Amino acid sequence: MISLEDVKKARERIKDWIHETPLFSSATFSLWSGNEVYLKAENLQKSGAFKFRGAMNFMLSMDEEERKKGVVTGSSGNHGQALACAAKILGVKAIVVVPEDASSAKVAAIEGYGALVERCGRSSTERISRAMEIAEQRGMTFVPPFDHPWIMAGQGTTGLEILDELPDVDAVLVPCGGCGLISGVATALKESSKKVKVYGVEPERSNSTYLSLKAGHIVELKNIETIADGLRTASPGKITFPIVQKYVDDVLLVSEEEIKNTVLLLLERAKLLVEPSGAVPVAALLYGKVPFKSKKTVALMSGGNVDLLTLSKWIEESKA
Ligand SMILES: *Cc1c(COP(=O)(O)O)cnc(C)c1O
Repeated sequence: MISLEDVKKARERIKDWIHETPLFSSATFSLWSGNEVYLKAENLQKSGAFKFRGAMNFMLSMDEEERKKGVVTGSSGNHGQALACAAKILGVKAIVVVPEDASSAKVAAIEGYGALVERCGRSSTERISRAMEIAEQRGMTFVPPFDHPWIMAGQGTTGLEILDELPDVDAVLVPCGGCGLISGVATALKESSKKVKVYGVEPERSNSTYLSLKAGHIVELKNIETIADGLRTASPGKITFPIVQKYVDDVLLVSEEEIKNTVLLLLERAKLLVEPSGAVPVAALLYGKVPFKSKKTVALMSGGNVDLLTLSKWIEESKA
């Protein structure tokens, strides 16, 4: 478990290294959703996603000797990109194991930061066990994508920024993959404010957190197919899930079509490039998935790393 205090310490630790991302109000999305909508723009974070926060907090929490030996991870893209970016800034060696179908934009970005990329399998289980093997063989530190207190506390710092700007926020919508983000954010919010509600959002086709919450234990999915590649996690984490059970009010689901349309709407209406995984909270608002009205609501847009070729295809299809 982590506490509000851990998130506050993480914020202090990483504050000179990260961007405090903007919180935009949106008149159009407010009108369409019947709520007072704000957009937390983690798509504008360094490396293009909130994961830079957790990666930075993890590496700054390591001791000097360990850091010298380097870091390794298994990631569908953004965690690897964030770790590579943070490693470059801190002068640390990094290896990133990515799935065979990782977007070319993400792989190019990881390599651009100077990290070594290895492709392995499609599932998070496959690449994580490969990354752990590399860590073992080379004496490097394995940095998990979500299931670690340092990662969770780092991700939670975006929740503290939301509260600074909007102390009377009613609800915050957060995408769920392995739940590092939502467990950190929910800890920060629920231990600071009595009234705030925290909702997870998942694709219908990758709904392991939804199923796990209903079942009361971790449910693992196989063969996940969704365009939200940052949310293709088989299940919530062992450490993150108890926090989800304690603090998350509910998990909302959105369809592939709703996600795709929302990415395009964000581009057109809000002038923001948000990747599918980062667009699910806005999709939940625009497609009436939220169980409330007229509330001060923040949609946490978690990232903006979209393959431009894929995006241009969606734009073409939307005109047909
Ligand atoms: C990783 C990621 C998520 C999910 O975060 P978890 O901590 O795994 O729940 C959501 N959106 C984007 C853009 C991501 O990269």
